[in-house]
Amino acid sequence: MHIREFQQLIDRMYSDKDRARGAAKTFLWFAEEVGELASAVAKGEDRANLTSEFADVLAWLVTLANVEGVDLEEAIKKFTSGCPGCGQLVCKCDAKLT
Ligand SMILES: [Mg+2]
Ligand SMILES: [Zn+2]
Repeated sequence: MHIREFQQLIDRMYSDKDRARGAAKTFLWFAEEVGELASAVAKGEDRANLTSEFADVLAWLVTLANVEGVDLEEAIKKFTSGCPGCGQLVCKCDAKLT
């Protein structure tokens, strides 16, 4: 499934609720899911739980994009032809390891 198809699927499932909730509250849900992913990583949870938390974060990010009218397949073009910093496919920018 392409990112655009996933975004359309999430839109079909949830758009009425999402638009009623609005961007600010949707962002809070997204942030809560990021927290759950952080906790799963920190606890070293098993692959199934970790995978589920990644799915939640992605779904809520996509939801937020829908509420804001952002096309994520368009958005990722920022990266698809190379690092936005140096333009290389394998980044040659000064390392930012922390
Ligand atoms: Mg979750
Ligand atoms: Zn770079």
